[in-house]
Amino acid sequence: MQFSQFGEKFTRLAGISQLMDDLNEGLKNPEAIMLGGGNPAAIPQMVELFRQETQQRLDDGALLQAMLNYDGPQGHDGFRQALAGLFRREYGWNITADNIALTNGSQSAFFNLFNLLAGDYADGKKKKVLFPLAPEYIGYADGGLAEDQFVACKPHIDFLENGLFKYRVDFDALEVGDDIGMICVSRPTNPTGNVLTDEEIIKLDEIAQAKNIPLIIDNAYGTPFPHIIFSEVNPFWNHNTILCMSLSKLGLPGLRCGIVIADQKIIQALSNISGIINLAPSGIGPALMQRWVESGDILKHSADIIAPFYQQKAEQAVHWLQEAIPAPKLRIHKPEGALFLWLWFEGLSVSSQELYERLKQHGLIIVPGHYFFPGLPDKNWRHQYECIRLNYAQPEEKVKQGIAILQQVINAL
Ligand code: PLP
Repeated sequence: MQFSQFGEKFTRLAGISQLMDDLNEGLKNPEAIMLGGGNPAAIPQMVELFRQETQQRLDDGALLQAMLNYDGPQGHDGFRQALAGLFRREYGWNITADNIALTNGSQSAFFNLFNLLAGDYADGKKKKVLFPLAPEYIGYADGGLAEDQFVACKPHIDFLENGLFKYRVDFDALEVGDDIGMICVSRPTNPTGNVLTDEEIIKLDEIAQAKNIPLIIDNAYGTPFPHIIFSEVNPFWNHNTILCMSLSKLGLPGLRCGIVIADQKIIQALSNISGIINLAPSGIGPALMQRWVESGDILKHSADIIAPFYQQKAEQAVHWLQEAIPAPKLRIHKPEGALFLWLWFEGLSVSSQELYERLKQHGLIIVPGHYFFPGLPDKNWRHQYECIRLNYAQPEEKVKQGIAILQQVINAL
């Protein structure tokens, strides 16, 4: 059977597909240590709260209503109103439910946005998505309908104490030409755990506004929920910003509920696309979380339960790693948020892909770093083949075992 161009493009072995395959394989092999995927932790306190809320929403009929009905293509009205109210109250953002669209996970929102605001235009122009700070999220890499739809900029690297480092946007090197359709950053960043500072975000916003292109902030791990963030930063939104959020990293990835906050024109466009592709996004997540959004409990649980849980785990894993493989053999990106540690083996004698294969043979699954540089013009930049991403949020024993395997394989190299 011959696939169309679309079929060929989207059936190639994409980085994200490899990740999902490995995740599946690991699930079949109970011995494998899965530090590769992006599954959030099942935090016992949160799981109990989810259970109670599910029971409550079953009893009051909201869950059944959500199962019995289609929502509109823009998503559940009551949930969007509750979200708009929360952001108006907490941050003074001038938004209503018309500034919000729900999607089946934020992943699908990125696909629609990348192809709405970049790619091939009717007048023959071609526009790209700019990632100003590589490395960036692997899941963006194959989300363009056009070829070469992404361009990324190398980071500036700050060397910090204790074998840590931090990426910063290299504004001197950042070129935003007329071929850029939008700027996109994840904050906190998957894979590095970097959190762009308020100053960096303000500067990127100024650049985007000056160019009359939107700035997408992927807030999947960000503040105010799920707040997997260990530094003091402010949520950011204005009418030129497209803020993408999700219920996934709160601990509910199976709900597939993404949230886009943007100018009404963008929201209307997303809603039209959603009608064609999905009819409507799922109403289960909205039914389950609406009361938490109305009461503000979603912020309280994020700050009081989720953030400390991940921060403690991140610090513990950094400590174990530094003991096992001291600097300068291993440098770790300063963990500021998200579920991952980004490990840099400067001068590694094999590529991160080869390291991945060797670790896999020993029963440890991580993600090789080079996948996280979509659009980077310099394919020879050694740094991208010297890093790996590790999910630190899995059970303690697994993380410890994984680090022991990493130590053994790295020492053998
Ligand atoms: N953005 C980032 C940075 C992510 O890491 C992920 C998932 O891992 C997503 C977006 C997509 O999440 P979801 O589609 O579950 O909302």
